[in-house]
Amino acid sequence: MAEIKLSEMRDLTRIERIGAHSHIRGLGLDSALEARSSSEGMVGQTSARKAAGVIVKMVQEGKIAGRAVLLAGQPGTGKTAIAMGMAKSIGQETPFAMLAGSELFSLEMSKTEALMQAFRKAIGVRIKEETEVIEGEVVEIQIDRPAVAGAASKTGKLTLKTTDMETVYDLGAKMIEALGKEKVQSGDVIGIDKASGKITKLGRSFSRSRDYDAMGPHTKFVQCPDGELQKRKEVVHCVTLHEIDVINSRTQGFLALFTGDTGEIRAEVREQIDTKVAEWREEGKAEIIPGVLFIDEVHMLDIECFSFLNRALENDMAPILVVATNRGITSIRGTNYRSPHGIPIDFLDRLLIISTQPYTGDDIRKILDIRCQEEDVEMSEDAKVLLTKIGEDTSLRYAINLITTAALSCLKRKGKIVEMEDISRVYELFYDVKRSTQYLMEYQSQYMF
Ligand code: ATP
Repeated sequence: MAEIKLSEMRDLTRIERIGAHSHIRGLGLDSALEARSSSEGMVGQTSARKAAGVIVKMVQEGKIAGRAVLLAGQPGTGKTAIAMGMAKSIGQETPFAMLAGSELFSLEMSKTEALMQAFRKAIGVRIKEETEVIEGEVVEIQIDRPAVAGAASKTGKLTLKTTDMETVYDLGAKMIEALGKEKVQSGDVIGIDKASGKITKLGRSFSRSRDYDAMGPHTKFVQCPDGELQKRKEVVHCVTLHEIDVINSRTQGFLALFTGDTGEIRAEVREQIDTKVAEWREEGKAEIIPGVLFIDEVHMLDIECFSFLNRALENDMAPILVVATNRGITSIRGTNYRSPHGIPIDFLDRLLIISTQPYTGDDIRKILDIRCQEEDVEMSEDAKVLLTKIGEDTSLRYAINLITTAALSCLKRKGKIVEMEDISRVYELFYDVKRSTQYLMEYQSQYMF
C-alpha cells in the first residue's frame, strides 16, 4: 500500500433506498430525554426509547466506552429501529452497521473477520483536508498579458455556477471574452460576482506581488488589495475504517465496496491504516466518530465470537455495540452450557439490557401511517383500519410489507388510492407466518422430511 487512497474515498457515494427503517431519523426524545409519542419517525416503545436515549447521552458525554446494549424483545418490536435511532440521534454522520448472527456462518470468510469488518464499518473517520476554493462574493483576476486581452474581442455572457477552482480556471478564457469590449489590460483586476455570475472590471491592481498562482496560460490570480484572493478552505469527508481498508487492500477496492465482495483483509493492511489514521489524528487532520454496530440474532454467535467481541470492545475507537435477541434461556453455541439469551455470563454482565414491548393497535396504526408517507402511498381510511387489524393479528412487519404490495395491486387496477380491496387481495396472495404454519400443518404429509 503506497499512500492511502484519499481521492477514491472522497468519491464514495452512499445510495439510499427506501429501506425498512428509512423513516427513522432519531429516537424522538425531548430535551429531558422523555419519548414524544410520535417524533422523528418513532412511535410508542417509550421506555425503551428513553433508556436508549440515556445511553446515547452517556456516550456523547464520553461517560461510557467499551459498553454494549442488549435489546431483548419479540420479533418486530422495533429493536433494529431503536438501534438505528440511537445512531441517528448521536449525529447524522454517525455510522450504523448491521449484521445478523446467522450471516457470520454463511459468509466466505472467517467469523472473526466478518465481525472485524462489521466493527470497522461502524467506526467513522472524519478527514479534514485543505482545498483551494474561492470564498467571498467576488473572485478577482488579473489579466497579465495585454496581447491576449486584446485578442479577446467578443462579448459573451457567463454564469458562474461553481466555486470549484478548476472550473474557474477553465472559465478564465471566457472571462476575457466577456470583457473584451472593455479593453482589459495588464494589471486589471476583474471581479466575478459569485451569486449572479456578473463580471466587472474593478480597477487596477495595487499589488505588484509576483507570487500569484497560475490560472491558465494567459491569466493570473493576484493578491487583491483588501484581502486574500485565494483562500484555503477546509473540506471534510466522512468515511468508515472499513471503506479505507477495502479501497487500500484491493486493486478494484472501490468497486468491491459496491458489490460487497470484499474478501478477507490482511492484518498488515489494517495495521498500516490504523497507524496512518493515528498520525492524521495527531496532526488534527482526522477525527474518529464511533458509530453503532447492531448485531441481530445474537444467540447465533458462538463462544469464539463472544470472546472476539469482549476484546474488540476494549479498543478506544470501539463503536456502541447493540445486540438483540428474541430468545430466552438457551444453550450458548459451541458449548453445552445454557444461559439467558444464549449469551455467556461474563459478556452478559457488561451489557445494559433494554426490553421492547409488543405494540398496541394505536401504535401500529401510527407506524403504518408513517410508512405510507415514506413510501408515497395514498391509502383510504377503511384500508388503513383493515391493515391495522391485520397488523394486530399477524405482525407489524407483515402489515408494513403489505403496503408496497397493495400499492402495486392498486396500480394494476389503475386506481389512485389504495382501498380495502387491494389490502384483501394481497392478504390472500401472501401468507403471514400464522397462516403459513397452519397450511404446513394441514398439508404436512405432502412435504419432504
Ligand atoms: P426482529 O426481532 O425480527 O429483528 P425488530 O425488533 O428488529 O425485529 P424492527 O425490524 O425494528 O423490529 O421493526 C419492524 C418494522 O417496524 C421496521 O420497518 C421498523 O422500522 C418499524 N418500527 C418498529 N418499531 C417502530 C417504532 N417504534 N416506530 C416506528 N417504526 C417502527
